[in-house]
Amino acid sequence: MPYRDTWAVCTNCGTQFVFTVEEQRRLDKQGFDLTPPTLCPDCMRLHEMTPGPHEGVVKWYDPEKGYGFIIQRSGNEIFFHKSGLAPGSPRQIPDGARVRYRVQATGRGPQAVDVTVISGSR
Ligand SMILES: [Zn+2]
Repeated sequence: MPYRDTWAVCTNCGTQFVFTVEEQRRLDKQGFDLTPPTLCPDCMRLHEMTPGPHEGVVKWYDPEKGYGFIIQRSGNEIFFHKSGLAPGSPRQIPDGARVRYRVQATGRGPQAVDVTVISGSR
């Protein structure tokens, strides 16, 4: 699929910004859809720290260690512990699996909870 720099307008702050080719390439590689964002990068980062729910992609999850990381749409990564997995979640979660999650503030920073696998890796 050809990528093209696309202008977009933030629905939160009204800022005009470019949805860049680099960004589209990264999203595609990480398994996100290429729908133009409705939030500028700054608002997106703030939005991703709200309770959500949000969608992301599992970077990796190690059932032995009992934790892993989710890549958020902005590219930031968020920690999750196995206790944050929704009941009935599979023991193994493949890299690249799409998940829905909520964000909870903890003493050690934000953490993903209620992590639900939506689909396996591509
Ligand atoms: Zn904005």
